[in-house]
Amino acid sequence: MALRLHSRLIVWSLLLIVLITFLLSSFLSASQLVLVVVIGVLLTFVFSYGVHVVISRPLHEISVASRKLAAGNLDQRLPITGDEEIAAVGTSLNTMAQALSTRMQALSDGKQQLELILEAMGQGVMVLGSSGRITLTNTSLRKILGTDRDLTGKTPLEVFRRPELENAVRAVLAGAPVQTLEITTGNNRILQANVSPVTNAAGAVDSAVVVFHDLTEIRRAERMRRDFVANVSHEFKTPLTSIRGYTETLLSGAKDDPAIAVDFLNTIQRNAQHLETLVVDLLTLARLETEVPSSKDPINLRSMIDELVASRENAIHERDLHVTLDCPQRQIQTDRSRLYTALSNLFDNAINYNKPGGEIRVSAEVQNGTLSVAVIDTGYGIPSDELPRIFERFYRVDKARTRDSGGTGLGLSIVKHAIESQGGTIGVSSRIGSGSTFTIRLPL
Ligand code: ADP
Repeated sequence: MALRLHSRLIVWSLLLIVLITFLLSSFLSASQLVLVVVIGVLLTFVFSYGVHVVISRPLHEISVASRKLAAGNLDQRLPITGDEEIAAVGTSLNTMAQALSTRMQALSDGKQQLELILEAMGQGVMVLGSSGRITLTNTSLRKILGTDRDLTGKTPLEVFRRPELENAVRAVLAGAPVQTLEITTGNNRILQANVSPVTNAAGAVDSAVVVFHDLTEIRRAERMRRDFVANVSHEFKTPLTSIRGYTETLLSGAKDDPAIAVDFLNTIQRNAQHLETLVVDLLTLARLETEVPSSKDPINLRSMIDELVASRENAIHERDLHVTLDCPQRQIQTDRSRLYTALSNLFDNAINYNKPGGEIRVSAEVQNGTLSVAVIDTGYGIPSDELPRIFERFYRVDKARTRDSGGTGLGLSIVKHAIESQGGTIGVSSRIGSGSTFTIRLPL
């Protein structure tokens, strides 16, 4: 463009010189005409050079620089040269570039901040465009779904396989208000999805945001609490019904027959004792769950186990059991109450589920800062398919035998809680007819 303006000026000036020469040809001599033409041509070139320097070149530079600005190079600044008006254009463009650069920086900072917030959120987030396809997901959502695939471009139906979520997103994109629904994913996570519309500057819905709250643990805890209440009620109901039945029978006449009365009262007492044991076990579990373990009690391991065995002398004698101890006289530091609770439950089971005349061996050692205690019996044993469930609350292997033993089905869950709450582990191996070995490992 600069070249064209420049050339046009020269062409027009040369035509003007030719015209002037023609008009003056009758008044001037040949040598004067040549002089006029030479001066005219010289002035034309001098003038056009001046135009080039003052107008064309600055305009060309402005044109080049503004093309770079348009291409996104906002650091580009225009040279402020040439004519005053042209220099003013350059200054305005520079100011505009500066303002644009500041705005772009602010936008980029905002976007980066938004991305950081999205990534830091514990909830899963998914953004969908007007076509209903995913445009953005955060790491939490991919973690919940157990995938590291890029979900961009997919529909919610392809990712979650839940038509109700797809329908909610479509409804919101079509103008419906916020939708809340609960879905279960392919990897069995229970999610609450809040689908909200996002409106553009014109007020139209052009995208949707879905925020997922992982309710899996909450629902699991709720189910456990419901099951627990149902189990506790069931455990209380049987002895209470029995107590009421025997009491009613006694009151309606059986009390007058001393032999029957004593028999019924014994049954009532047994049921009342069972209820008491149940309450004690439930309170122990509650205490283990709420109290923080203390690891400060100094204990002599051997003395503690001796004390435990002595307190069960009667039961051992009644069943004619033979107990051997393989425990060092060792001073350790741990939560005495939790360790004693765990060992006494294991020892009671070794007594209760042993055969008459059977053996119990308690073997303890401390190695590399870990206490290991094995309680070994020669009892009935536990079927291998039931082993994984015996630590569950109220789970009993042999219902009839457990009832006879006065067991509540809570003993092993108390042991597990007491040991795991201190960072320890409990393991079991058993053979039907040969006996069982329960081993606890506790870091000291
Ligand atoms: P309980 O307090 O009724 O004994 P536990 O939670 O201690 O309940 O034990 C759960 C189940 O595991 C019981 O039904 C019992 O039959 C079985 N069990 C536990 N310890 C032994 C063992 N040493 N030998 C055989 N069976 C056992």
